Amino acid sequence: MTSIKTSCPVCGDVELTPAQMRLVVCTRSEWSFYSFLCATCQDEIKKPADGEVVTLLVSGGVLAEQWVIPAEALEEHDGPSIAYDDVLDFALQLDRIDLLAAMITPRVGA
Ligand SMILES: [Zn+2]
Repeated sequence: MTSIKTSCPVCGDVELTPAQMRLVVCTRSEWSFYSFLCATCQDEIKKPADGEVVTLLVSGGVLAEQWVIPAEALEEHDGPSIAYDDVLDFALQLDRIDLLAAMITPRVGA
């Protein structure tokens, strides 16, 4: 069975099986990471996984999970953030949209 050596920042060197590791490959490569539960301190250790690390872990039998970041999540936004009053105004506008929709809907027999 393949054994993968890595380290816990508290406990030092750790040997794991591929099934004990989680590899997440993100569409933004700098956000890719691998993680594991340290058997000694029980902490979840999370470390960045660049392309070389991803290749090594996959070749060692670790299953890679794909993490797709939606493009809109990466958009830059400017202007003020949404406040409670903005949400309330939006909800009130939704009520008016129902009235407007009722007004423009043709009535049968009219
Ligand atoms: Zn540890």
